Amino acid sequence: MHALTFVLVSVLAVQTPPPPQQVLIKAGRLVDGRSQQVQTNVGILVEGERIRAVGPLAQVQGQAPNARVIDLSQMTVLPGLIDTHTHLLLQGDITSQEYEDQLLKQSIPYRAILAARNARIALEHGFTALRDVETEGAMYADVDVKLAVNRGEVPGARIFASTRAMAPTGMYPIGTPNWEIELPHGVQTVDGADNARLAVREQVQHGADWIKYYSDRRYYFTPDSVLRSWVNFTDDEARAIVDETHRLGRKAAAHAIGSDGIAAALRAGVNSIEHGDGLTDSLMDVMVRNNVYWVPTVTVGVHVMPRGGVWPALVALERRAFGRAVKKGVKIAMGTDVGGFPWTEIHQAKEFEYYVQYGMTPMQAIQSGTSVAAAMLGQEQNIGAIAPGLYADIVAVSGDPTRDITELQRVKFVMKGGTIYLSQ
Ligand SMILES: [Zn+2]
Repeated sequence: MHALTFVLVSVLAVQTPPPPQQVLIKAGRLVDGRSQQVQTNVGILVEGERIRAVGPLAQVQGQAPNARVIDLSQMTVLPGLIDTHTHLLLQGDITSQEYEDQLLKQSIPYRAILAARNARIALEHGFTALRDVETEGAMYADVDVKLAVNRGEVPGARIFASTRAMAPTGMYPIGTPNWEIELPHGVQTVDGADNARLAVREQVQHGADWIKYYSDRRYYFTPDSVLRSWVNFTDDEARAIVDETHRLGRKAAAHAIGSDGIAAALRAGVNSIEHGDGLTDSLMDVMVRNNVYWVPTVTVGVHVMPRGGVWPALVALERRAFGRAVKKGVKIAMGTDVGGFPWTEIHQAKEFEYYVQYGMTPMQAIQSGTSVAAAMLGQEQNIGAIAPGLYADIVAVSGDPTRDITELQRVKFVMKGGTIYLSQ
C-alpha cells in the first residue's frame, strides 16, 4: 500500500513540475562580454539558474509579462567576472615567514574556513567564478570549499579547483637546513615521469579540474635584459604531467616566470602560462600558434615589489611584455594571484585597471575577465557572457566601465545562477 502510494505521488510529481521562476532584468546599458558594443535598454530574461532570452527590453518583456522585475535601468550590466588565478587557501605571503606561519601554525580546517570566507568576498566583489590554482599545502581543501558552495551550504563563487600543484624534490618551500625534520611542502612532490602520471591521477581522483605545476624558480637577468630562470622538471617529467592531464580530460597550468621556464612549459604543451613576466617575442609567437593563454597576475607583482631583489624589475618587464602581447594577439585571461596578497585588503578588480594602463582597451580588459577567461576554462557554454543558455551570472555597476575601468571595483549588484547575492 505504501509502495503504491509512493509510486502515485512520484508520477504526479513528474507530471506537474513547478513552473520555473522568471526574472526580468532591465539593463540600462549592457556589456555582454562578447560584443564590442555597449547596448542600451536591454531585457534579460532569467529562468531558474539560466538566462532564457536577451534582447530589446520591450520585446523580452512581451515574452514574459508576469516575470518579477529587477530594475537596473540606471546601471551597466555585465557578465559575472572571472579571476583565473586565485589561492583561496592563502592569506598573503609577501614574506616567507607569512607563508611558513600558514603552513606550520594553521590547521587545514582553519584554512578552509578562511577559504570559504574568501569565496564569499570574491562573489560579493562581482567574481562569480574562480580558477583556484593550488592550495599551498592544504591538500584537497579547495574541492571541499567548491562542494560546499555548489551544494548551497555557503555563498561563494564557482570554483575550478587545481588541488595540490606539483614540483620536484627540494624545489618548493618549505625548506630547511635541518635534515632531521621533514617540513610540510606547498605542493605535491613529484619526481620521474611515472610518479608524475600517478600524481595527476591522484589529483583528478580527488576532484582536480585543472593540474598546476611549477615550471621554474630562481629568476635572474642576463646583461641583455632577458629574464632567465632555473627549470624545475626535466622535459620528460613535464610532458608526462601534461600528457596525463590531457588524457584525463583536464587542462594544465604552469607557473613560469623566466623565459627558460616559459619555454619548457610550452614544450610540454600546457594550456596556460601563469605570471609569464619573462615572455619574449618568440615565446609569444608560440603561444599564439598553439592557443596557449597568458595569465599575467600584475596585482601580485606590484604587491610583492617590497621583497626587493629581482621582483621590482619584473613589474616593468611584464608591463612591456603585456603591450607587445596585446598587439600580437596573445590570449590574455584575467588573473590576479589573490591569496599572494590578502583577500581582505586589495580588490581583485584592480587587475583590470593595470590591463588598461598596460595597453588594453577597457572592453578588451573586461573580456579578458569574462569571455576570454571562460574560453580558457572551456566553459563558454556556461559562463563569461550574457547570452541565452548560459548561467545567470550577472553583475552591475552604476557608471560606465568602458570609460572608467575602476567601476569594476565598485560592483553594486551580483547574481549567480539566478540567485541574488548583492543588491545595493
Ligand atoms: Zn599563484
